[in-house]
Amino acid sequence: SGVLSGKVTLVTGGSRGIGAGIVRRLAKEGAAVAFTYSASHEKAEQLVQVVEAAGGKALAIQADSADATAVQGAIEQTVKAFGRLDVFVNNAGILLRGTIDQFSLEDLDRMLAVNVRSVFVGIQAAARHMTEGGRIVTVGSVVAQRTAFPGASVYGMTKSAVAGLVRGVAIDLALRGITVNNIQPGPTATDMNPADGPHVDIIRNLLPIKRFGTDDEVASLVAYLAGPEAGFITGASLTIDGGYLA
Ligand code: NDP
Repeated sequence: SGVLSGKVTLVTGGSRGIGAGIVRRLAKEGAAVAFTYSASHEKAEQLVQVVEAAGGKALAIQADSADATAVQGAIEQTVKAFGRLDVFVNNAGILLRGTIDQFSLEDLDRMLAVNVRSVFVGIQAAARHMTEGGRIVTVGSVVAQRTAFPGASVYGMTKSAVAGLVRGVAIDLALRGITVNNIQPGPTATDMNPADGPHVDIIRNLLPIKRFGTDDEVASLVAYLAGPEAGFITGASLTIDGGYLA
């Protein structure tokens, strides 16, 4: 029985990468964990089995974050399956690269839909079910504060939007005893940002710690914010970046 024993959580984009790390960690802390995915059906099913084999409860829900009805449906399905909702983690996000002279409106709209609109939709729907002690955590990015490379302007814009949204929502929900925080990871080894990718040496040299972060390290911060000891943290954007901003 961990610090989230008896809690019900929903993580968006939990089938791979940082989201899968968050699912494993929240389950390890004793929470029942529902998570969404869009394409990686097999990975999602495997993750459910991993959690259940360790004695936990998990539920995989296919729900494209770009589809508001699907996101709202995932929240309803979680409450139906596990009886309540205590913690909502918006992790799903995409990175479409391109410099400003060649970025298409279609890609802009896709980025806004998955990285920003879905966060609004998810928080709004999740908060309706939450009571005193509820926790909302978003996964932004350190790119909101330091872009550093060409081709990431739209991504940075979406993650800055999330940081701004979180500040305001934290105030809106404060009197209901619900905290709302945004974490901003630096380079973290996943499919989105492989630790053996083409520019890995350049990225590593911008990190005082000289290595990428891991999904487990990011998940650890999420577990802390989701837990009972973090009740005085709200409206914050917390970086976890190996010193990238330092
Ligand atoms: P990955 O691409 O490795 O994994 C993304 C996850 O989100 C997958 O589970 C994927 O599921 C899911 N997902 C993607 N699009 C959708 C969608 N439309 N609807 C539902 N689920 C979706 O990314 P990371 O784990 O690296 O990134 C997770 C979050 O962390 C993102 O918000 C990202 O911006 C942020 N981040 C990542 C950093 C890094 O260096 N890796 C640094 C800073 C922030 P499926 O395969 O089923 O589509």
